Amino acid sequence: MINTSGLSFYYGKTCVLANLDLAFHAGFNVLLGPNGAGKSTFIALLTHLKKPSSGYIEYDGLRIDQAQANIMARFGVVFQEPTLDMDLTVEQNLCYHGALHGLSKREVLRRSEPLLEGLGLTGRLKDKIRQLNGGHRKRLEIVRALVHKPSILLLDEASVGLDNQSRAQIINYIRELAITSSLCVIWTTHLLDEIKLDDHLVVLTKGVLVASGTVSDLISKTQVSNVSDLYISLTSQGALNAI
Ligand code: ADP
Repeated sequence: MINTSGLSFYYGKTCVLANLDLAFHAGFNVLLGPNGAGKSTFIALLTHLKKPSSGYIEYDGLRIDQAQANIMARFGVVFQEPTLDMDLTVEQNLCYHGALHGLSKREVLRRSEPLLEGLGLTGRLKDKIRQLNGGHRKRLEIVRALVHKPSILLLDEASVGLDNQSRAQIINYIRELAITSSLCVIWTTHLLDEIKLDDHLVVLTKGVLVASGTVSDLISKTQVSNVSDLYISLTSQGALNAI
């Protein structure tokens, strides 16, 4: 669904992403790396907020820099920083976003209902964003990112600042959605406990691809017994392209 070819990005002379050839398909994809690995930069390239220094990104075989408007409508994005309007209600935030995608208020509300329920926000439509706690705001950002039925859902460290219970609920909900609705989810994180054996994992350190593959395959290839040991093994071996 998403392919990158020779994708690199530099801030001045500093290389932040180095020659990445990656593929993301429908399902739950985890982009794992410590702070500074280049995860947010990668999301900024996917969403066309930044342009690659070299290389390119394709969505279903189409370069996103060449057919930008159509393709961007296929993305749902939850950035690391909040982007909701604090003085509008939940309903207004959702309807404004829906209108940008040509959706009527009625349609937005119809589509939002199961998403709000799934993410524990039933009954909050008339609340202003200021009245929601941080976890609920993040859940709403996820609902908003899904309301136009994207093919690709990008979540940049969506679990940061959430308590463990909220974190688990949100990840479980999105993992389930990725499986049941053929959604391509790219979930960036630096937290190993968010990874499950069936996930497709891409590991970056300092902008370099260290490994890519199904977690269970990577574990068996690396001959370790769990995700934590896998990460230690991968990062101590240096660049290992395990595709
Ligand atoms: P991550 O999301 O994995 O924490 P980032 O993509 O935010 O990583 O950052 C990757 C690298 O790029 C880091 O070393 C960071 O310091 C650097 N960086 C990020 N933004 C800028 C910027 N505006 N100018 C220069 N360097 C930057």
